[in-house]
Amino acid sequence: MVSVCCSCHKVKIGNCWMKKTITGQVVTSGYCPECFRKTLAEIESFYGCGRKGTRQGRATL
Ligand SMILES: [Zn+2]
Repeated sequence: MVSVCCSCHKVKIGNCWMKKTITGQVVTSGYCPECFRKTLAEIESFYGCGRKGTRQGRATL
């Protein structure tokens, strides 16, 4: 099983993420640390603005 970043399409090989084309392998989509941080920041700014003042707290993703 190979992890592929669904944002930048880097592939996780060992502990490294690199641009690589994977063929004939089972892949699982996720985020590389870089895109994960970016996405998290986007989500937090989105919900941070949208939910300010509500009592529901942070959305469960
Ligand atoms: Zn990525």
